[in-house]
Amino acid sequence: MTDAAAPSSPQQRTSVVVVGAGPAGLTAANILRAASVDCVVLETESREFIEQRPRAGFLEEWAVRALERRGLAERLLANTQVHTECEFRLEGERHTFRYGEVTGQRHFVYPQPLLVTDLVRVYADERGGDIRFGVRDVELRGIDSDRPSVSYTDPETGERLRVDCSAVAGCDGARGVTRTCLPPEHTAISRYDYGIGWLALLAEAPPSSDCVVFGIHPRGFAGHMARSPQVTRYYLECPPGDDPENWPHERVWAELHERLAAAGARPLTEGQLIEKRVLDMRSYVVEPMAYGRLYLAGDAAHLLAPIGAKGMNLAIHDALLLGDALVAYCGKGDERGLSGYSAACLPRVWQYQEFSLWLSEIYHGASSGDPFLAGTTAARLRRTLASPAAAADFAELFLGKDTDY
Ligand SMILES: Cc1cc2nc3c(=O)[nH]c(=O)nc-3n(C[C@H](O)[C@H](O)[C@H](O)COP(=O)(O)OP(=O)(O)OC[C@H]3O[C@@H](n4cnc5c(N)ncnc54)[C@H](O)[C@@H]3O)c2cc1C
Repeated sequence: MTDAAAPSSPQQRTSVVVVGAGPAGLTAANILRAASVDCVVLETESREFIEQRPRAGFLEEWAVRALERRGLAERLLANTQVHTECEFRLEGERHTFRYGEVTGQRHFVYPQPLLVTDLVRVYADERGGDIRFGVRDVELRGIDSDRPSVSYTDPETGERLRVDCSAVAGCDGARGVTRTCLPPEHTAISRYDYGIGWLALLAEAPPSSDCVVFGIHPRGFAGHMARSPQVTRYYLECPPGDDPENWPHERVWAELHERLAAAGARPLTEGQLIEKRVLDMRSYVVEPMAYGRLYLAGDAAHLLAPIGAKGMNLAIHDALLLGDALVAYCGKGDERGLSGYSAACLPRVWQYQEFSLWLSEIYHGASSGDPFLAGTTAARLRRTLASPAAAADFAELFLGKDTDY
C-alpha cells in the first residue's frame, strides 16, 4: 500500500505490530508479551468502546483451557457459567441434547466484552504492553519484505506515526484494512451467502431457560442464549437486509413467544431490548491467511455467520498458533511456525464453516417454504437426537472438540 506521509513520519521500531484489539489480536499480543517479544497493538476504537461491544458469548472448552495455560482465564473461570446441554424446539416439542454426556466437554458462557476487558487488563495493566487506542488511517507498507511497517494518525496530535517491525499480525476483523493488503494474485477469497438474516437482540431480561434453546419454526428460526443472570441474547430469523426498525418491542416478543413455544416450556421473561441489529448470514475464507510478513488471524481471515457460535473460538485458535509462531521467529529466528501457520489454521476453519452450513440447514429448513427441505432437515435433526453415532458426531463438532481435523 502507498503511504505518502511515511518518509517524514517519526519512526519507532518493534518486533510485531498487531492491528486490532479483539479476541485474536489481544490473545496474540499477550503471548508475545509473556515471552518478552516487543509488540505494539493498534486499535481504531477506544478502550471503553471495545470493553463494552456486545457480540459473542460461548467459548469451547479447548479454548478456555488454552487461555488458562497462558494465564489469561483467571476471571473467566471465576465468573463463567458452564453449559452441558442445549434444547431444540420442533413442532411444539422440546428435545434436550446432553452434549456434556456425549463428549465430556462443556461450553463456557462468558460475554466477549468481558473477555476483551480481561485480555486488555493483563496485556496493558499487568504486563505493561503497548496498546494505542483511537488510531486512524492505518496503512501497511513493505509486507513482502523483512522490514514491514505500519503507519497511522495519532488521535491526540493528528501526527502521522510509523512503526517498523519484523512482522504484522492482521487481527482487525471483518471490516479492517489488513486483508485488503493481500495481493489478489496470491490470494483466494471464497465467499458464501446464506441468503438469510438474523435479527440479533440483547434483552435486559434473565434467561428463560437453563440452557441454549434453538427454535425451529415455519415462521423462522429463533434462538435463546444466556449471557449473564441479567441479560439474554435472542435471535430471530428475518429477511436479509431487513431494517431493525421493522421490529418494534411488541413484534419481537410476539415472534419470540410463538417461535419458541413448546409444551412444558418456561414462559419467556420479557425485558427492554438494548441491542437490535440485523446480521446478514455471510461467510468467507481467505487462503492463504498470510502473505510476506503479514499474517491474518480471526475475522480478518475468515468470517463465520454466527450460526454455530464459532467465530470467537476460531479467532482464539488462530491467535494461539500465530502468537507461538511469532515468538519462535522473533526470539530464535525459527520460521517454521510462521511458514506453516496458514496451513495449520485452515483445516479447523473449513471444518467450522462446514458445521455452520450443516446446522443452518437444520435451523432454516422449516421456514424455507420448501416442504421437501423442511421434511429432510427435520429428519436430520431427529436422527441427530436419537442415534448415538449421529449425536456423537454432532456433539464433537458443536464443542469443537480438540481433535486433529
Ligand atoms: C451478534 C454476534 C454474536 C456472536 N456470537 C458468537 C458466539 O457465541 N461464539 C463465537 O465464537 N463467536 C461469535 N460471534 C463472532 C465473534 O464475535 C467474532 O468472530 C470475533 O469478534 C472475532 O474476533 P477478532 O479478534 O478476529 O475480530 P474483532 O472482534 O472484530 O476485533 C477486531 C478489532 O480490530 C479493530 N479494527 C478494525 N479496523 C481496524 C484498523 N483499520 N486498524 C486497527 N484496528 C482496527 C476493531 O475495532 C476491533 O476491535 C458473534 C458475532 C456477532 C456479531
